[in-house]
Amino acid sequence: MGTVAVHGLSKSFDKVQALDGVTLDVPDGSFFVVLGPSGAGKTTTLRAIAGLEKLDAGSVHLDGRDATGDAPAARDLAMVFQNYALYPRHTAYENIASPLRARRCSSSEIAAAVEQMSSLLHIEHLLQRRPAQLSGGEMQRVALARALVRRPRAFLMDEPLTNLDLKLRVEMRTELTRIHRSLGATFVYVTNDQVEALSMADQVAVLKEGKVQQVGTPTEVYERPANQWVAGFVGSPSISLLACHAEGDRLVGAEGWTLPRPRWTTAEDGRPLLLGLRAEDLSVEQRGNASLSGELYGLEPLGDRTVVDVRVGTEILKVKARPTVTGTPGERLLVTVDLDRAHLFDAG
Ligand code: ADP
Ligand code: MG
Repeated sequence: MGTVAVHGLSKSFDKVQALDGVTLDVPDGSFFVVLGPSGAGKTTTLRAIAGLEKLDAGSVHLDGRDATGDAPAARDLAMVFQNYALYPRHTAYENIASPLRARRCSSSEIAAAVEQMSSLLHIEHLLQRRPAQLSGGEMQRVALARALVRRPRAFLMDEPLTNLDLKLRVEMRTELTRIHRSLGATFVYVTNDQVEALSMADQVAVLKEGKVQQVGTPTEVYERPANQWVAGFVGSPSISLLACHAEGDRLVGAEGWTLPRPRWTTAEDGRPLLLGLRAEDLSVEQRGNASLSGELYGLEPLGDRTVVDVRVGTEILKVKARPTVTGTPGERLLVTVDLDRAHLFDAG
């Protein structure tokens, strides 16, 4: 078993309220991601679960048992950090074996466990090296193996991929989901990278200024963001937010544009709204009847696609286009809008 439930966690440091009533339910065996910008309270949340932070209020339950007052060692959790914290003088083998030695496991048990984890992480050939002889990605694998070998109740991971270069980070995302699946263990994984969160999580909790904004599957958080902030953070940088209000069967923009009012909105006339449009739901090709008129502001070629920046009044819309798209700044453009996939938020 490995359920982790925290309820009403609050913690202040001097004048900073790091956590403000954080409640999370992590099901057994899930890959649970806490996503938020720097300073949101992610590390403090993990430290609270691990028992490393004295709380002002709230409780921590592990496998249904109140563990709020338990010492860190009694909680049977493993923490993986962004800096690998390996013993420099020990080989990779000894680093991975160290938690088992501390538990006085037999040499044959240790050998079997190290072998199993190194094969899972594809580091069998590195076991006799010392940390100085390993690359960053290899060190991170050894650090993971050392955490995994203990078979704790749950793994707490604090931005473990942050110090890797982009290619390795992408590779380790796939690796971590594979490892998670093959161990069936509970992962509580903290990151500020929405792509990491969306690509690996079963469940995502979005955290801002010590408060949980939304909990859901990656699809729910992306497709139905609970508020404007979640839409901007999770969709960043592809979502544009335009000030507007409803008026009869139209949406009227602060910049003077109008669009048909989406059937699904219940907002009353005149109330200040923000229309959220993702780059992939906009097009510079003529293929729908809802469109906004603007002028080409710039092109961002990104290899597999080009993002066209279109100026509508004083606001910039990001529109996904084919990599071959061309145009000159200032030229008039009609942007087709897929209103069924748009979002409306209360402004302010
Ligand atoms: P995150 O991991 O999401 O970047 P943290 O949990 O580390 O955020 O921090 C949340 C807030 O609490 C930040 O404003 C941070 O400066 C503050 N904070 C965290 N730990 C301490 C500490 N030991 N002393 C003072 N302030 C802290
Ligand atoms: Mg942190």
